[in-house]
Amino acid sequence: MSKAVKVRDLQIGGGAPVVVQGMTKTDTRDVQATVEEIRRYADVGCEIVRVAVPDMEAAQAVGTIVRQSPIPVVADIHFDYRLALEVIRQGIDKLRLNPGNIGGRDRVEQVVKAAKERGIPIRIGVNSGSIEKGMLQDYGRTAEAMVASAEKHIQILNDLDFDDIVISLKASDVPTMLQAYRLMAARHPYPLHLGVTEAGTVFQGTIKSAIGIGALLAEGIGDTIRVSLTAPGEEEIRVAWQILKSLGLRQRGADIVACPTCGRLQFDMWPVVNELERRLATVAEPLHVAIMGCAVNGPGEAREADVGLAGGKNMGLIFRHGEIVRRVEQEDMVEELWKEIQSAREEARTV
Ligand code: SF4
Repeated sequence: MSKAVKVRDLQIGGGAPVVVQGMTKTDTRDVQATVEEIRRYADVGCEIVRVAVPDMEAAQAVGTIVRQSPIPVVADIHFDYRLALEVIRQGIDKLRLNPGNIGGRDRVEQVVKAAKERGIPIRIGVNSGSIEKGMLQDYGRTAEAMVASAEKHIQILNDLDFDDIVISLKASDVPTMLQAYRLMAARHPYPLHLGVTEAGTVFQGTIKSAIGIGALLAEGIGDTIRVSLTAPGEEEIRVAWQILKSLGLRQRGADIVACPTCGRLQFDMWPVVNELERRLATVAEPLHVAIMGCAVNGPGEAREADVGLAGGKNMGLIFRHGEIVRRVEQEDMVEELWKEIQSAREEARTV
């Protein structure tokens, strides 16, 4: 089991549930926009959020952001130790920085001392695209180089008696990322933050992330996850949750079972499923919804669900907990199913 690390009230590692992370895409200097974005992320299940801190103005904005954020905030710092000291002063919950990249020993000592005094953990984040020259010469752009680079940063922190560490080893190439995390998990007890970096568009990035992050989680490796997509951050959080739900590691929100449709379909099913998925995106409580195209598998699946629909010719039968509750016409399907879903949620709350 990995070591437990505390970030505000949230535990990472040490057997805690795998945590879903996001990263804001707004300019951190725009406090209001950043806080609004964090709240939207939290609404869809984000549990910890990272903000970029490229300059002193952004560092000084962090205090207000942390105070207004419903979830712990991580500052992403590169190269400038003064930014790290400022965000610590501003009350940041966690730092993402590589101690070997922020200057000489005296500067690192100041940052580590300040982080230690306030119980702020540090994530060391090595990306395959930014491995330092020495490691590249020794190992090439490989998983071994990433691990050696991370170990160099770990050593700096350990030498300063700092052990509140989380590690990430992200690569855009899935096999490299898998190998790097496996090597690290075999050698060190620190909790691992998993991600496939620069994964790309929703289509490509979702698949790459699900394979990379999912494979490691299935092996019991990984304590927090971030899905990176060239898309709004809410989309990343939804994909992250779907990975965790697919592996049975966490439960959140609705699980929609829907058949792929085939030549037996006799109603317009895709828009119904898409609209329900859209409406269910912010529902946090677990709910099993089944939308099935016809009488072949439909009634069976729909019966298993909290709310189900088995389709017929331009109509469908709505099921609640295995019982048919009524017949609906095509044009009323979404609204009638939504009413049943609301009533199922109400019922779940009062149980
Ligand atoms: Fe085809 Fe019916 Fe199966 Fe859907 S449930 S895939 S419509 S046979």
